[in-house]
Amino acid sequence: MRNHGDRPSLSRREAIAAIGVGAAGLAGLGAGARARAASVAGAGRATGSLRMIHMTDMHVQPERRAYEGLLACIRHAAGQSPDIIITGGDLIMDGFEATERRTREQWDLFLRAWKEAGYGGDVRHTLGNHDIWGWNKKKSETRGDEAKWGKRWALDNLGMESAWYSFDKGAWHFVVLDSVQPDGDTGYIGRLQDEQFEWLRGDLAANRDRPTCVVSHISIVSATPLIDMRDKPREGWKVSGGLMLTDMARVVKLFGENPQVKLALSGHMHRNERLDYRGVTYICDGAVSGNWWKGAHHECNEGYGLLDLNDDGTFGYRYTNYGWKVEG
Ligand SMILES: [Zn+2]
Repeated sequence: MRNHGDRPSLSRREAIAAIGVGAAGLAGLGAGARARAASVAGAGRATGSLRMIHMTDMHVQPERRAYEGLLACIRHAAGQSPDIIITGGDLIMDGFEATERRTREQWDLFLRAWKEAGYGGDVRHTLGNHDIWGWNKKKSETRGDEAKWGKRWALDNLGMESAWYSFDKGAWHFVVLDSVQPDGDTGYIGRLQDEQFEWLRGDLAANRDRPTCVVSHISIVSATPLIDMRDKPREGWKVSGGLMLTDMARVVKLFGENPQVKLALSGHMHRNERLDYRGVTYICDGAVSGNWWKGAHHECNEGYGLLDLNDDGTFGYRYTNYGWKVEG
């Protein structure tokens, strides 16, 4: 399924999902919130809400017109007049297994796209597994003692002091998590190390008066890793530790103790999903790159999440295609 021109053609499943999300999002809200929530569906911008774009899994690379795609997405997103754009990780195609030269080439493209788009608004970033340089030492030809090795290069490029941080914007509090930790010599696992978890606990405790949106690359809770599983009654279902936070239980429990946490956004799966559990809406957004710039991924077109966050903690949401058309 591909996009054609300005009018994205939704797959039937996506269209149904969009309707379902709209109905669920509007149910139980007051008239004012309903009007604001409707604004994400194109009915005009309402006052008092914070417009956010969650743009994830760009995977920019020299091939497959990825640069043009990223540029088109930034321009489309800018046209929504967002108050804030938060990227969701996997900004470059891959640095995890790539040489220094190849990794630099991709970061140059990523940074150049924002410059060329001339977007001057508030942009914050999240690190994904592919943004980490050289954790697979053999394939990336690294030693591990290079100054830019690991997360350092991405942090420097993006002007970030830490891979996890929080800030306030409008009435909301935002927490960006670092969900990718090393696993053996060549892999990674979805997890918050203890130091980060304790920081999260303290940060949420100190910001109980603000509705809170948490962003991570790897989902805290997601049903998408189950979708492709075959029925193996004797073996049970096994979810890879790279597909969901392996310490999700303690994070979910912590959210339960902090009812101001309303939203948890993620990427990584290149699919669009919305899951409500214990007062938190977990949204996995589809990828800006779709199927890594080869079209739709499992019928999820290239796009980003568009959210209007209301002061009372309610919100409107719509997964939005930016009209990318794959050629060749
Ligand atoms: Zn990705």
